[in-house]
Amino acid sequence: MTKRIFQAICFVALAVFFASSALILGVLYPYFSNVQQTQLRAQTMLAAQGMAREGAAYFDGLTLQNCRITWIAADGTVLYDSQSDSARMENHLAREEVAQAIKEGSGESRRYSATLMDRYLYCAQRLPDGTVLRLSVAQGSVLMLLLGMAQPFCIILAVAITLSICLAIHIAKKIVAPLNELDLDHPLSGQGYDELTPLLRRIDSQQRQLRQGEQQRREFTANVSHELKSPLHVISGYAELIKNDLVQPQDLIPFAQRIYEEAQRMVHLVEDIISLSHLDEGAQDMERETVDLYELARTVVQALEVKAEAAHVTLKLTGEAAPLYGIPTLLHSILYNLCDNAIKYNHKGGSVTVEVKDIGDFATVSVSDTGIGIPAEHQSRIFERFYRVDKSHSKEIGGTGLGLSIVKHAAKLHHAEIALHSVVDQGTEITIRFPKG
Ligand code: ADP
Repeated sequence: MTKRIFQAICFVALAVFFASSALILGVLYPYFSNVQQTQLRAQTMLAAQGMAREGAAYFDGLTLQNCRITWIAADGTVLYDSQSDSARMENHLAREEVAQAIKEGSGESRRYSATLMDRYLYCAQRLPDGTVLRLSVAQGSVLMLLLGMAQPFCIILAVAITLSICLAIHIAKKIVAPLNELDLDHPLSGQGYDELTPLLRRIDSQQRQLRQGEQQRREFTANVSHELKSPLHVISGYAELIKNDLVQPQDLIPFAQRIYEEAQRMVHLVEDIISLSHLDEGAQDMERETVDLYELARTVVQALEVKAEAAHVTLKLTGEAAPLYGIPTLLHSILYNLCDNAIKYNHKGGSVTVEVKDIGDFATVSVSDTGIGIPAEHQSRIFERFYRVDKSHSKEIGGTGLGLSIVKHAAKLHHAEIALHSVVDQGTEITIRFPKG
């Protein structure tokens, strides 16, 4: 983190530095050049006026700073120069500013020295006698300016790097400190960054879900142990009586029957638990295929016919073929549990109707019975694990309390919707709507 902050600060410092250098070179240098040129023009005019009045005497005792003055005859011969011996100087007729002044009255030009280190500004003016007066000043070139800047540039760079390191260490510590102080067990308790709040909220809700899941698992384990304990007690109690020869011969068969029933209850319970834990893991190993819901309902109705007859309940199937893409075993479980309940919680002489429909993108199955119904206050809870409206009644008729939670889970894996309509003493209708795809 320190490294990243350091890089960012360095980058900003260098960017500012280069931007200001570019500003100086690109904008200020031409600006000051023009100012200098204007001054030179004014000085040339003044000098020209002095010359026009005084003639060559104007140069007597003339002291100049940073400025060179040259007087040139109309044929280009140098008559006077403030820095060199005019006699040794070459003809100046070809100089741009001189030629221009002879022609137009005044002329200007800029030229670099051979080394490119200096740039000279020239300003020339024609005098009334046809001679030309020229003033020039030297100005540091851009290259000179760059070379001149090399030392301060290095110093500023070193200062910028040192400052970046100090700032990066300081800022990184400041940024990281609240992160280190975060209590991930209670993510929303601290005074962290506002920007982290969405993340902390997500961690908090995830932890809550985990705790909830943990709590549910614990409750489930406790329920399972409890559900297994009662049949085991019954089985071991009856078996003990038989073992100790305390049972009358005529009671032996009813005792064996009871042991068998309790053992069957345990088998069903264990089967349901296995199905549920399989569903909890997402039933990933189960293959999906196209299944006709009507055909599946027919096999379920056939399998439950004997049970319905024994309960004096008539069982009928209506509707039409309704193909859907799903997991056959789970769809079978859904239909079986719904029909099984409709028979179990029915009145003698009652009926159960299974209806399968194909409606556009959906396949639906509804199981309706003329049974005892479910009181309104229980209706939202009957899909919970081990929830029963009447516990002893459910146990009496071999219920595990897990059937509808298997239905709910299996329906969820098919993205299906469950609708429940039930009136006490009139009956119950549960409809499941499966998307076909
Ligand atoms: P169980 O094994 O007890 O039948 P389920 O999970 O299948 O467990 O059902 C939960 C409870 O919902 C049942 O105990 C029963 O009280 C109620 N229930 C389910 N289906 C019906 C129905 N068709 N009619 C009346 N009550 C029902």
